Amino acid sequence: MSDPQPPRLAFLGAAGTVTGSRHLVEVGGRAVLFDCGLFQGLKALRRMNWQPFPYEAGRIAGVVLSHAHLDHSGWLPRLVKEGFRGPIWCTPPTRDLLRLLLLDAAAIQEEEAAHANRHRWSRHDPALPLFTREDAERALDRVEVVRFDHLEEPFPGLSFRYARAGHILGAALVEAWLGSGSGQVKLVFTGDLGRYGLPILRDPVTVAEADHLLLESTYGDRDHGDEDPGDALAREVRAAAARGGMLLIPAFAVGRTQEVLWHLRELEEQRRIPKLPVFLDSPMARAATQAYAAHASEHDDEMRLAARWGEPLSTARFDVVETRDESRRINGMKGPAIVVAGSGMATGGRILHHLRQRLPDPSCTVLFVGYQAAGTRGRLLVDGAAEVKMLGEVVPVRARIARISSFSAHADASGLLRWLGGFVRPPRTTWLVHGEPEASRALRVRIERELGWRVRIPDLGDSVELDGIVAEAEPAAPGRGAG
Ligand SMILES: [Zn+2]
Repeated sequence: MSDPQPPRLAFLGAAGTVTGSRHLVEVGGRAVLFDCGLFQGLKALRRMNWQPFPYEAGRIAGVVLSHAHLDHSGWLPRLVKEGFRGPIWCTPPTRDLLRLLLLDAAAIQEEEAAHANRHRWSRHDPALPLFTREDAERALDRVEVVRFDHLEEPFPGLSFRYARAGHILGAALVEAWLGSGSGQVKLVFTGDLGRYGLPILRDPVTVAEADHLLLESTYGDRDHGDEDPGDALAREVRAAAARGGMLLIPAFAVGRTQEVLWHLRELEEQRRIPKLPVFLDSPMARAATQAYAAHASEHDDEMRLAARWGEPLSTARFDVVETRDESRRINGMKGPAIVVAGSGMATGGRILHHLRQRLPDPSCTVLFVGYQAAGTRGRLLVDGAAEVKMLGEVVPVRARIARISSFSAHADASGLLRWLGGFVRPPRTTWLVHGEPEASRALRVRIERELGWRVRIPDLGDSVELDGIVAEAEPAAPGRGAG
């Protein structure tokens, strides 16, 4: 027996932009949400986080979460606040990282609201956090883990399975079967797709078929280039050591920090860099590194092998900084030494006091290893600012500012095409989400030209029927991707 109504898919976020991943599937009279992310970046986007959810939260049966990054998970506390009472499904490692990321985001929101109220700079009186730690805990209470490769069947008409996406620890792509009988369609949602051959985690899993494919397109218009991040890091560490000063590496706590530690250890073992003291100065990075080390089922062969001989995410002279006092004590130390601390764009965290201390010092090197968004302190430094404001002071910049752009947890355009090459037949429609308009459009052109597939770029708020005929969605005209 087939369903009277074909399943529907609504694009409620990450349409024409890289944040706010939210896709609503309606099937058999029920609704399920794939991801529930925060909008991040420009103010116009962030403001959308304050709008009510465009679908009655109490009627959503569950959330299928792809991974822990906030642009995929960070609206969950609000969804629960709006009355969502279903399960939040995710993989076991994602559960661990989700706890770290949601509670950290809540603490920052609370601090910012308190700061705004103290200094009365908010238009809102009183300024409120988007969500509190209590809200985050309520969302975390709803988490139900689903192992990779296990077929979960929450209700008739919906079953799904997580497969490894190789993006960050626990990150999954989702294969979902919607409806029943001859009306059943298979929807594949990539979440964020990782890169082949990166250290630590296993590669993205190949998917052979889908009726509908929901594909991320973050780097749809470019490739990461040939430079090996390890080679680049070796060059920068040697240059920093030669100057004799501190090497400060602002790094995201989840993913990037672990990659940097992996490379530092390898480079030391290969005698390509000196064995310098390395301080990991971020409580969240420490917890995330423990999670990376603990989930052995997620490790690739390199990591397994390295784990047999020692600690792959730790260097010869490795020091985990626990307290704020210990962190400040580093200010009195002389280099060369390496400090890895958050936040990755120098917008907050312990990296700030290190920067205030070291930026005026010409022997110091500040090395950025991640994307620096417009408007952040990291971006100002990378763009060559002569001074920056931080912690209530204007700090002159005499340190050397360096950057490595080849680190990335996302597949580039060629990587996406390589992954699509695993399909034995084309999906009926490939929907490009999670990309800036230029990136999505460029990827659409490549997929159409190289694979001959039918590709659409949905606008925010679009809703389409996922049936066998697929003539429902109007083809997106070029330029409409911005939503
Ligand atoms: Zn992600």
